[in-house]
Amino acid sequence: MSDYGSNARFICPNCQAVNVVWLSVPEPDYTAEKMSDMDSEGEDEVTCTSCGETFMGSAQDLCLIVR
Ligand SMILES: [Zn+2]
Repeated sequence: MSDYGSNARFICPNCQAVNVVWLSVPEPDYTAEKMSDMDSEGEDEVTCTSCGETFMGSAQDLCLIVR
């Protein structure tokens, strides 16, 4: 398996600090069967370098949706 990733800009919902994080994302072409019972598409843990809080986010190209 090859490592895929992207730099994502992540604005901390806790302290509004802007962090640039490297996130691993799945390869874009799914020709093989994928694990359909996993709904985490490139979801990763990101830690704010300012306040140290950890969040889960989804990397989609250069966007990061933190929830
Ligand atoms: Zn923060």
